[in-house]
Amino acid sequence: MFDVAIVGSGPAGSSCAAFCAKAGLRALLLEREIFPREKVCGDCLNPACWPILRRLQLTERVQILPHGVLDRVEFIGIGGRTLAVTLPAGGKVEIAVKRSLFDQLIMRRARELGATICEGSTVTALTAPGAATQNWTITAAARTFESRVLVAADGRNSTIARLCNLLPRGAKERIALQTRLPLPHDFGNRVVLQFLPEGYSGQAPVGDGELNLCLVSVPRKMPALRSWAETRFGISREHSWRTITPLTRASITAGHASLFLVGDAARVVEPFTGEGIYYAIASGELAADAIVSQRNGRDAAGVAVAYSAAHAKLYCGRLWINRLARSAVLSPRVASGLLEVARFQPAMLRFLTAKIVR
Ligand SMILES: Cc1cc2nc3c(=O)[nH]c(=O)nc-3n(C[C@H](O)[C@H](O)[C@H](O)COP(=O)(O)OP(=O)(O)OC[C@H]3O[C@@H](n4cnc5c(N)ncnc54)[C@H](O)[C@@H]3O)c2cc1C
Repeated sequence: MFDVAIVGSGPAGSSCAAFCAKAGLRALLLEREIFPREKVCGDCLNPACWPILRRLQLTERVQILPHGVLDRVEFIGIGGRTLAVTLPAGGKVEIAVKRSLFDQLIMRRARELGATICEGSTVTALTAPGAATQNWTITAAARTFESRVLVAADGRNSTIARLCNLLPRGAKERIALQTRLPLPHDFGNRVVLQFLPEGYSGQAPVGDGELNLCLVSVPRKMPALRSWAETRFGISREHSWRTITPLTRASITAGHASLFLVGDAARVVEPFTGEGIYYAIASGELAADAIVSQRNGRDAAGVAVAYSAAHAKLYCGRLWINRLARSAVLSPRVASGLLEVARFQPAMLRFLTAKIVR
């Protein structure tokens, strides 16, 4: 019997579990994989993450993980035109770190703070609170658990949202491929966002002499984009890539009575802006605050409404950037054209970058 059961141990679930356990709740974290596991991601950590990592006492531990320091973002248009924008330094630095390392660190912190963690435990069935019991019954790997509160932190294809009939149909308009390669010797401390006729590619050094390479395209153009990457980086045709879809999906109301959705399970943001991890840990913390207030006697319905409002506020004011990024990357030729304009208006690109890299 737990106060809160959290499904999914990505940054959203582990941060929520860590904050709940820190507040004295009996927290259970159920994760399908055995960590460390990799995840399709550009691996870039938006500087907005630092204050939350500080509240988890993880700043130093993240800083000693192998990572790449990113001092500039380079936008490369279809014709090869390159525009660079300097990124912040010091306490607001953007880094790139492997998700296998980063996610395991937050999960370990949750365990250290007292959360019970079950890896290799895929949640397959749920019974919602009803007349017979006020608790959730959760089935994972042939075991059942009971909890007063349930948190869906199981990513963009959330099983919890599906089992609760909340999951919208994903727009399968694009897919992403991701891999790691030896870092080209002259790559430097930059993150590259490169537009190509078939889509776009993100590249960032992640430490340990490795480069993270992501490709985003519509399915019918992906073979051509992959072929470009094979030639550009000398990758063999047999090389294996991780893949994920959808890249866009309608959002789900984040708060329901005794059910909270966090991270990608609630709302998926455009990968181009490299903010998903920030939203994951920020919503994980918000949900933990809400769950603590429910434990302290606030009614479940009121807590759900307040959490939904706080969650909407977290994203509010930034969705226009996401829409802008999405419409630009849906048409790489338009995005390249915008880069041409930005040559004469560099302040515009600096302004947009500063809105994202905070
Ligand atoms: C191509 C691409 C590039 C990106 N680049 C960046 C970037 O550079 N920077 C950035 O900040 N964001 C980036 N993102 C977004 C970022 O990866 C996500 O926003 C982030 O991983 C969301 O974290 P999460 O904890 O919500 O979900 P996830 O990280 O997806 O974690 C969900 C967890 O739930 C587990 N799970 C799933 N189903 C079950 C189940 N039934 N039972 C138990 N466990 C389950 C999974 O194994 C997983 O560990 C990118 C996304 C894509 C697609």
